[in-house]
Amino acid sequence: MTTKRIDVKGIVQGVGFRPFVYRIAKKNDMQGYVKNMGNYVEIVVSGELKNIDAFLSDLKLEKPPLSKIDSISIKNIDENLNEIYSDFTITLSENSEIEEEGTIPPDISICDECLKEIMDKTDRRSNYAFTACTNCGPRFTVIEKLPYDRENTSMKDFPLCENCIEEYKSPENRRFHAQATCCEFCGPELFITNNSGKIVSNDIVDAVKFLENGKILAIKGIGGTHLVCSINSDETVLELRKRLNRPTQAFAIMSREEYLDLFSKIDENELNAIKSPKKPIVALKKNELYGKYFSKHVSNLNTIGVMLPYSGLHHLLFENTDQIAYIMTSANMPGLPMSIDNEQILEKLGNIADYFLLHNRKIVNRCDDSVLKEINGKMELLRRSRGFAPEPVEVNYGTIKNSNKNILALGPELNSVACLVKNNKFYLTQYIGNTGKYETFNYLKEAVENLIKITNTNKIDTIVCDLHPSFNSTIFAKELGEKYGIPVTQIQHHESHCYSLMGDSDIFENNVTIAIDGLGYGNDGNIWGGEIFLFKDGKIERTGHLEEQIQPGADLASKYPLRMLASVLHKANLNVSEIIKGYNYFSEKELKLILFQLEKNINVSKTTSTGRILDSISALVSLCFERTYDGEPSIRLEALANAYNGKISEIETLVEDSLKIENNIIDTTSLIVKSLEMLNNNEKIEKIAYFIHIALADGLSKIAIETAKKQGIEYIGITGGVSYNKIISERIVEKIEKESLKPLIHERIPNGDGGISFGQAIGYLLNSN
Ligand SMILES: [Zn+2]
Ligand SMILES: [Zn+2]
Repeated sequence: MTTKRIDVKGIVQGVGFRPFVYRIAKKNDMQGYVKNMGNYVEIVVSGELKNIDAFLSDLKLEKPPLSKIDSISIKNIDENLNEIYSDFTITLSENSEIEEEGTIPPDISICDECLKEIMDKTDRRSNYAFTACTNCGPRFTVIEKLPYDRENTSMKDFPLCENCIEEYKSPENRRFHAQATCCEFCGPELFITNNSGKIVSNDIVDAVKFLENGKILAIKGIGGTHLVCSINSDETVLELRKRLNRPTQAFAIMSREEYLDLFSKIDENELNAIKSPKKPIVALKKNELYGKYFSKHVSNLNTIGVMLPYSGLHHLLFENTDQIAYIMTSANMPGLPMSIDNEQILEKLGNIADYFLLHNRKIVNRCDDSVLKEINGKMELLRRSRGFAPEPVEVNYGTIKNSNKNILALGPELNSVACLVKNNKFYLTQYIGNTGKYETFNYLKEAVENLIKITNTNKIDTIVCDLHPSFNSTIFAKELGEKYGIPVTQIQHHESHCYSLMGDSDIFENNVTIAIDGLGYGNDGNIWGGEIFLFKDGKIERTGHLEEQIQPGADLASKYPLRMLASVLHKANLNVSEIIKGYNYFSEKELKLILFQLEKNINVSKTTSTGRILDSISALVSLCFERTYDGEPSIRLEALANAYNGKISEIETLVEDSLKIENNIIDTTSLIVKSLEMLNNNEKIEKIAYFIHIALADGLSKIAIETAKKQGIEYIGITGGVSYNKIISERIVEKIEKESLKPLIHERIPNGDGGISFGQAIGYLLNSN
């Protein structure tokens, strides 16, 4: 007889870990106990050595899907000191305060066993949309406060029925202590209303019928609300676009795994990501047959964002129909938070949806769908939200790991996410959005407050924010700092991107990093966005960038890319008036005003943004004259460049001839003049689009590689929103690898502004040590 004590650390609470341990202990004939110890679980097992080995192997290999084991420590217990255990038990911890200090898991898609019950006509949970167990279902989006007990979640409104209580109390059952469990007798109920709130049905089959008849539905799900309609009718899709005032931005869709091959070219990485229990949206390449199934108005890109059903409700929407997919887009007006309570949904979306599939469970924390895209063979996070938040990220680098400061980093303004650091765990909030808007700014405050609550944080040592003086997040940081006497540190936007990449990859050696995006407030007060940084001996410094261009009308130049083009052509001393007139876009008066601004240098700002250069070309080739969503002109330009099917070498020659770099500054004027020349020579617009991608990638990598070589540095990083551009990113990585240098790319944290708050926290920690 051997006795061992096993301590398991990680996400081991609220995920069915103890009943799992109980089951594998029984299976392997163990005596002893399992006990929750706050931030770890203590297990004592006593039995035959070979059974203990089998137990340990089960522990590692069969752990519950929601759990995450960070470490297991095993100690032998001296037989003489050993109590005699006659059975295996789950011992409740005496101190429930300590007990629940562990990490709250994210929401996770319905598990196979629950799904089987829903689809089984004889099961008592047949057709029940809210079926969940310890291995699946909502967590983060239903929790109000700690500890994670049913009483502290929005399930408190649904007292368990006798059958459910029995399951809840039985250690052998997979619903043992499952806080979100319920059934049709005791749990939340679905109903369908029209847009004046009148209930028209309680049957989800009617929702399916409405969808088949071309209606637009608002569907309240687990952590949020979607607008849903069919994918194949031009009329329906255009109607949704009109009502949402969303003329071109591609819609995400939901489909079933067995249909993915019909319309997409999905590879193994993408398949693994899309099927994972987090069930994110994955940007998939369309295949040749795509157009057979989808209205051309669903997505005007070469990709389509696809997710699989992740709740019982979603699966039921695909029963009783031959639809292969639905449009499923977050139910919010552009830039505003998603509507989540029934009254608000009816009020805000009354003019958008025809019918409302609602339920009577409250959504406590809204959580938008996460979005992934494969770049450089890795799944990168465009949005880290449902399925990820609030799971923390850890960093192992010495001085950062050893810091015991609690830090609140408030992020940028657009695509905002905040980050709380506690015990070297970096907790990122769910996706928040554009905090320049009042409602979204309030949402940021709520999300931060909530994160502080569910991590049991009772003091903040320091606050970090952006350098931009008038961002709401900066003002909020300063207010908080003043109110509570907490020091506030400001960190430049692109430096934060660099720090974010170092923290993400956990590599803090000297590096050169390319930080490219739409905009960030620079150290010189200008707008940056095409930057190269040298991080050496703990100091970060900008060592190269794109040429400064003028934005006539400041922000208007990012909304109307033709303004940017006019600016660059003006700088090149070309006949701007003539060329821009040719596009027939601006009125004579407006064009005059633009020229006046350029000549007199009035109401202009300076920018080194990569986004603005891509935008100019998007306008040059008449692809996009107005940005209707974040990044539109350049996102569509990437899709166009993808259609180039000529020789790469031809483009490389063009780039070699026209790329000029002086003092580590890339001459973007010549690149745009070259593009205009190509257009005048009747070159295909796909070729021009591809040319500018390669020219920028080659220019940036050239400076980065030269700097790295000169400094004896082996790492070159790439970060920022433009690094989601597959053509640019993959070209840069190819160049880096060709020189036998090592590329740093994002894997756990968004490349874009969703990673800024994490970078702010990392930057603060690096600089304060
Ligand atoms: Zn389940
Ligand atoms: Zn029940």
